Amino acid sequence: MLELSTSVQYVKGVGPRIAEVLANKGIHTVGDLLHYLPFRYEDRLNPRGISELRAGEMASVVGEVRNSGLFRTRSMPIFQLTVGQGRAKLRCLWFNATYLRDKFVPGQLIALYGKVEEDQRTRELQIIQPQFEILGESDGDGAEKKASESLEIGRIVPIYESAGKITPKWFRKIIRTALDSLSPDLPDPIPAMVRSHLGLVSPRAALWNVHWPEPGESLTDLQSSRTPAHIRMIFDELFFVELGLELKRRQQKTQTGIAFKLDDRVRAAIKKILPFHPTAAQKRVLKEIAGDMEKPCPMRRLLQGDVGSGKTIVGFEAAIIAIENGYQVALMAPTEILAQQHYFSARNILESAGYRIVMLTGSLEADRKREIRRHISQGNAQLVIGTHALLEEKVEFSRLGLVIVDEQHRFGVMQRLKLIKKPQESGQAIPEPDVLVMTATPIPRTLALTLYGDLDLSVLDELPPGRTPIETYSVTDDKATRVWEFIRKQVAAGHQAYVVYPVIAENEESELKAAVKMYRDLGGKVFADLKVGLLHGRLDADLKDQVMRMFQRGELQVLVATTVIEVGVDVPNATVMVIEHAERFGLAQLHQLRGRIGRGGAKSYCILMTGGKVTEEGQRRLKAMTDTNDGFKIAELDLELRGPGEFFGTRQAGMPDFRVANIIRDAKLLETARREAQAVLDGPNSEISAEEISRALVQMRSRWQHTYGLVEVG
Ligand code: ADP
Ligand code: MG
Repeated sequence: MLELSTSVQYVKGVGPRIAEVLANKGIHTVGDLLHYLPFRYEDRLNPRGISELRAGEMASVVGEVRNSGLFRTRSMPIFQLTVGQGRAKLRCLWFNATYLRDKFVPGQLIALYGKVEEDQRTRELQIIQPQFEILGESDGDGAEKKASESLEIGRIVPIYESAGKITPKWFRKIIRTALDSLSPDLPDPIPAMVRSHLGLVSPRAALWNVHWPEPGESLTDLQSSRTPAHIRMIFDELFFVELGLELKRRQQKTQTGIAFKLDDRVRAAIKKILPFHPTAAQKRVLKEIAGDMEKPCPMRRLLQGDVGSGKTIVGFEAAIIAIENGYQVALMAPTEILAQQHYFSARNILESAGYRIVMLTGSLEADRKREIRRHISQGNAQLVIGTHALLEEKVEFSRLGLVIVDEQHRFGVMQRLKLIKKPQESGQAIPEPDVLVMTATPIPRTLALTLYGDLDLSVLDELPPGRTPIETYSVTDDKATRVWEFIRKQVAAGHQAYVVYPVIAENEESELKAAVKMYRDLGGKVFADLKVGLLHGRLDADLKDQVMRMFQRGELQVLVATTVIEVGVDVPNATVMVIEHAERFGLAQLHQLRGRIGRGGAKSYCILMTGGKVTEEGQRRLKAMTDTNDGFKIAELDLELRGPGEFFGTRQAGMPDFRVANIIRDAKLLETARREAQAVLDGPNSEISAEEISRALVQMRSRWQHTYGLVEVG
């Protein structure tokens, strides 16, 4: 008897060599193997009589081998087999199939599946390269019974993706073998209440039917993973993720955090720094954040707002609440440039109001770093702005009360936790700091539930007033001269422009060279009379800083840059964004880059230049950009084009590697799973025992080691 946890090596027919190939596919246990689902199904029901066949149809045929042989044409050897049913005969051909030479014996019963074609010359019907299975020796009336035992013919047949040398046919055989010897009583981890509520089939039935559907099953449901068997398997996966996230969320609510006070004094302090009237959305979101901060449990909130929606100031407001309560605030940015920029605006907005701010990034000199660290640990610094250098072990806060993570999608989620767990130097046990995570990646709600189900969600869904929508154009790069003329005009009108060149990896020498050459051409020739700057990731920090500052102050009119300016950079006077080789960028990146303009009152223009051939998918990306400025629409299309794994970067975002679920396709089931998980935990005599939960979580932990939330629970 096989259990789901039995090593796959114990399945009959799996030797060490095959086990190795399977292991590369992540298949180690019988359970893994049975979760290797067909990616499509073929309807090979109802074997046909040879005399009823029509050219052009897919058909399965059961017949008797009459004769076979190899003949050579000028180009290749062809293997020919004739199958008969009474008088009717059907010819099958395989090209280059010397290996079939000794396979067939006249009189054998054989099942075939393939496309029926008409021979050009003889007008006879034939099947080229059919799938086949030898059913055994023919013995007259046993034929039908044997056909019903075939895994290849006379049924809906599962088609698996090959793995190395392992063919779909081989998977069919081995998975069938595993199912045949599977222990009859599989435990059902889903609570009975949920099971009956949703009418879920048993795990065993699900496993059988997902691989070997009943003859009456709808092919459409199978292909779209909507059969009861599929739903059960998908639900299992989603249910435990949601259960884990919900548990984590509840557990957080019971932890002791800091109950910040929000009195008139603090309110006045916030008012004092505001350089403009907040939008209604900013007010609402601040209220949500402040509400969390007042509560005695730690805040875990995600603030989502499209590029330019004004997240920074909201972060600063939250910072003031913490600082006015006597705590320190850490603000983490994903790039040094962005950290710099936050530092500048913090100094503009907060330092003038008397707050003490420091910046700590990796590129500072050791002495300077040490000094800043001392400021932090002694509690002099009230707001600490930095990159991941903040996560270094040596940084110790004296009274950390609030952590703000900007542009969260750029960080590994584990890093987010590491900062929270920072030991406090003073030794006094202070409660967990509040955490505010900000992101410009608009995440559809269902996805947010999976990825950040342990966080509360706030959405900034309004842009500050006075913005005119950005106009976006897509042009081929033979129009470059006109584009440069346009930049010249905008500069003459007092504005500034970005020209972005794709350097995907900053360590890619050749790409960087191209960007630098581009800068020389523009700076030295095309715009010889303008002030042109260059910014890329490999410049040293001081220089980067200097260039950025000059651009911010308007001392540079054109900034040639790589994607280092992608996130967060805020220069409202810049009105033109030219992106060279736009076809090489992903949608999210294009949208982020475009988000660098349209930040002031003046009309802004984004020009996507393409060089060379653009793929169909590339065209769709460009079209999406010219069609809409709406980050949500763009994110949805991006998800569709790339799939969730790519979209978030599975590992990086801490997204579970689902085996059977697909959070886009299964969005509805995900909501159901969340609701059911909540109901189970809310239940008066919670139906799921603590033991069951922890068992399920342990199971998942091994599957999703990198999924932050689940590693911690249970
Ligand atoms: P993001 O959400 O992309 O981080 P920022 O916080 O950088 O956006 O804000 C974008 C720009 O809008 C900044 O120049 C900021 O000063 C400005 N801004 C933010 N909120 C308002 C507001 N309520 N009224 C006017 N300008 C605002
Ligand atoms: Mg920002």
